[in-house]
Amino acid sequence: MDLKIGKATQEKLAKLGIRHAFDLLLHLPLRYEDETHLYPIADAPFGQTVQVEGCIVHAEVQYRPRKALICQVQDGGGQMFARFLHFYPSQVKALAEGKTVRLLGELRQGFYGVEMVHPKFSAGGDGAPLNEALTPVYPTTAGLSQESLRKLINQSLQSQELTDTLPEALRDSLSLADFAASIRALHQPPPDVSLAALTERDHPAWRRLAFDELLAQQLSMRQHYRRRRNVGAPVLAAPGALTEAFLAGLPFALTQAQHRVAAEISRDLAQPHPMQRLLQGDVGSGKTVVAALAALQAIEHGYQAALMAPTELLAEQHYLKLMMWLEPLGVNTAWLAARLKAKEKRAALEAASNGGAQLIVGTHALFQEQVEFGNLGLAVVDEQHRFGVHQRLALRNKGRELAPHQLMMSATPIPRTLSMSYYADLDVSVIDELPPGRTPVLTRLVSDARRDEVVTRVREACLKGRQAYWVCPLIEESEALQLKTAVETFETLTAAFPELNIGLVHGRMRSDEKAQAMADFKAGVTHLLVATTVIEVGVDVPNASLMVIEHAERMGLSQLHQLRGRVGRGATSSVCLLLYQQPLSELARERLKIVHDSNDGFEIARRDLQLRGPGEFLGAKQSGVPMLKVADLERDQDLLEMARDVAQVLLRDYPEHAARHLKRWLGGRQEYLKV
Ligand code: ADP
Ligand code: MG
Repeated sequence: MDLKIGKATQEKLAKLGIRHAFDLLLHLPLRYEDETHLYPIADAPFGQTVQVEGCIVHAEVQYRPRKALICQVQDGGGQMFARFLHFYPSQVKALAEGKTVRLLGELRQGFYGVEMVHPKFSAGGDGAPLNEALTPVYPTTAGLSQESLRKLINQSLQSQELTDTLPEALRDSLSLADFAASIRALHQPPPDVSLAALTERDHPAWRRLAFDELLAQQLSMRQHYRRRRNVGAPVLAAPGALTEAFLAGLPFALTQAQHRVAAEISRDLAQPHPMQRLLQGDVGSGKTVVAALAALQAIEHGYQAALMAPTELLAEQHYLKLMMWLEPLGVNTAWLAARLKAKEKRAALEAASNGGAQLIVGTHALFQEQVEFGNLGLAVVDEQHRFGVHQRLALRNKGRELAPHQLMMSATPIPRTLSMSYYADLDVSVIDELPPGRTPVLTRLVSDARRDEVVTRVREACLKGRQAYWVCPLIEESEALQLKTAVETFETLTAAFPELNIGLVHGRMRSDEKAQAMADFKAGVTHLLVATTVIEVGVDVPNASLMVIEHAERMGLSQLHQLRGRVGRGATSSVCLLLYQQPLSELARERLKIVHDSNDGFEIARRDLQLRGPGEFLGAKQSGVPMLKVADLERDQDLLEMARDVAQVLLRDYPEHAARHLKRWLGGRQEYLKV
């Protein structure tokens, strides 16, 4: 730090993310207090912070119901009480009868009359001048007072050069405010500025800072994007005969949306640098076929393709499906599972490294730990959302200079503003259409008190030849507990329905048992499958048309939507029963209402984002991705679009400005993206 600041203070500042003198300037107020004028007590509005001045006509320390210092204050036309619950003897002295004081706080109706609880106070009277400008209030940390922060920031304002990082002509064409003026306005608001504009953050100074923050994010993300693009990748020219044969053999025609995204991917694969594309599509929108098409394009040109899934259950399903589709075309596939016998596993690894296998399917864990590829052309990552934001794969491409193309698939649709900001380092394709013939799932909310009715209904449906899932509650604290509930539910239901075949699948089963349970359910041998949330991703059994989810109130929105997506895959109309336990929290009630009202993954994601905010939504809190502090994606959408365009211009035409801007905003701090 180039200011003279003691070590203890530096540590506190570091907690706030402030490491350089310039960071102090970007530490912006949370809100402002208005000490520029005095309200007559009688006219002061309730519910907002106001400043009044009056004479203390009575002051006393009360001991009941709890210790408090109560001052009765009068000005010309009104009176009020100030109540302090914590106070020092010096304060009792300063607030003695006969003193004139200035009080800043929120007025409300108290027990004795109009009162302020714990107002900020200072000596009043003729000699006390009013502030000329609004007072900024900063986010701070224990042991660092507003006073000290303000002083440090003011010092920094004087010592730092506030050069604009935007070229002047560009800034003017965007009608953005000047940087230096904006920074000064936010830290030391001029007397005439409106408190409302500063509070609502639509003041030009706020907009400029929000823009700058978004621009830094865009620059950082786009720089990563460009850097990864500088690496070479195999040029996989347009699809040929193998792809044609595959499409001709499919039992269905691709949807418009599938055609469109397949073409986007195909164009990327023909480029001499690695594709970095995120494919989004709601559950059941048919992403697997699109992945198969991409894999074929690699295979047709003599390269290998790999497909990774988060769970073994899903990886195996993919393997079976792709094998069924591709082996008739003469494609060699390999399957990598933890449970393979040592010899089989060695053979699969061997086939991956010597190029004998053209398509290799497995879980991410296996790929990251063990596999080396002969000549990997494409890596497909399914259900990328399960891994949090910006997880990148380290694939070992043995002895090759070229990096593989990457396709990431996610069933959690990312609202547009988020994909434009936090995913700006990726190209995005969206499947926005479901295959024809799907009947929307009917969702019902049922109180747990009516569980017996649900049991009866499930039994009747199964006896009529339908198949059902019974999903056991998610127990966050303990996987073991979830397991116990699943096993108990399985036992209870088995005892209750001797005439039905009931299966059980959970995460702790051996993987061959899991696979067997799924195979039996798929083949219709079991009618009812009791499951933990392991079936959340990817499981595809079109005949299953009923789902019961227990303790739905404990689950997140996207998880409920994903689970529900396991039914409604066939032609019969499907039902999803969400069992909930009373009493419901406000948030749980809201979540259940949203899944009940909508079947549209994008709409649900949008609401989820509103409820939880981007940090939680992206799972970024855990992964340490820095979140935006000034900009608000919802409010500042226009700025986001502008920042995206300006970032391109800066990187292309003004690289020095771009570098300065990045240094200012990201300086010694973490970057927006860890590769
Ligand atoms: P997701 O996008 O959730 O991964 P899948 O790829 O598992 O979806 O596809 C869901 C189901 O829809 C699968 O049974 C798949 O074979 C089928 N499917 C995919 N595309 C189409 C299509 N264009 N027409 C009909 N069925 C399709
Ligand atoms: Mg899928």
